[in-house]
Amino acid sequence: MNRRYRKTIIAGNWKMNKTLSEMKDYAEEIRPILPKGKWCKTVLCVPFVNIPAAVRLFKDCHIAIGAQNCHYEDHGAYTGEVTAEMLKEVGAKYVIIGHSERRQYYNETDLTVNKKVHAALNAGLQPIVCVGESLDQREAGTTMELIAYQVKAALAGVPAEKMRRVVIAYEPLWAIGTGKTATAGQANEVCEGIRAVVRKLYGARIARAVTIQYGGSMNPKNAEELLAQPDVDGGLIGGAALKPADFVAIINAANQE
Ligand code: PEP
Repeated sequence: MNRRYRKTIIAGNWKMNKTLSEMKDYAEEIRPILPKGKWCKTVLCVPFVNIPAAVRLFKDCHIAIGAQNCHYEDHGAYTGEVTAEMLKEVGAKYVIIGHSERRQYYNETDLTVNKKVHAALNAGLQPIVCVGESLDQREAGTTMELIAYQVKAALAGVPAEKMRRVVIAYEPLWAIGTGKTATAGQANEVCEGIRAVVRKLYGARIARAVTIQYGGSMNPKNAEELLAQPDVDGGLIGGAALKPADFVAIINAANQE
């Protein structure tokens, strides 16, 4: 983390978990244990249908609400889809774009990721853009090449003035939901590499200010070490965000002096 230049953001990705009543229980449980006077921003990305209720429930906890996906068009015959504008209007502030599960199960490509980043920014949302390599790619030594490609593709055509709203999440595929975490050194190395890509594209000032998260089995035990890395500006958290005590422990790690 480097709080002097950029925001630390801890974002939970609930995926397809928690009904409305389970979310209400979660809010009751987390409210009294959340730290006061936080440095880091806290976000929960909940299923679409629960966004309006989440906005109301978590308002007094200062937890911003995000979605986990959006469509790239602004209207049309796309049964089952949701636009960025719709998300904005019901109170979402963030939207995860290009999560590896969407790339794997819903045919998201670097091109659709890029279109969605534009849609999110045009609607006034903050996209959390996910990039990450597979185990094969890491073992073949092509991690940084692949990540650089994904970052450039995702940001194609994004003007400098909109970059302050973009968050990038480095999520190695082999670490998501596996309990296998990247070492702090591996996480920092790639986050630093992503910042270098942003620097080449947008210059030093914007690169210094962009929030780059790590995601992949972050938990209360490993969060402090990961978040202490200079280029790791927060976390995108799946499993551990489903349990209030674990999520708060990670937020506390992000609030260390
Ligand atoms: C994720 O889904 O983005 C994620 C990082 O999941 P987990 O923390 O469970 O690995």
